[in-house]
Amino acid sequence: MLNTQKYICKNCGQEHDVWPALAYSSPTFYNDLSDTDKESIAELDSDFCVIEHPDQTDRFIRCSLT
Ligand SMILES: [Zn+2]
Repeated sequence: MLNTQKYICKNCGQEHDVWPALAYSSPTFYNDLSDTDKESIAELDSDFCVIEHPDQTDRFIRCSLT
């Protein structure tokens, strides 16, 4: 059965009829931090996230599943 559903893309505003790529703007490890920790031990931009714990540094790279 052919999937004919369409959607309006949040990024470009255009209508697409193919399954969108799956991606998140931040890793769950960042989301689980308190607001204080997000500001004091973490850095987040559109592609990278770094969380500096006392005993280790966690690094994340944004990717998408197509
Ligand atoms: Zn788009």
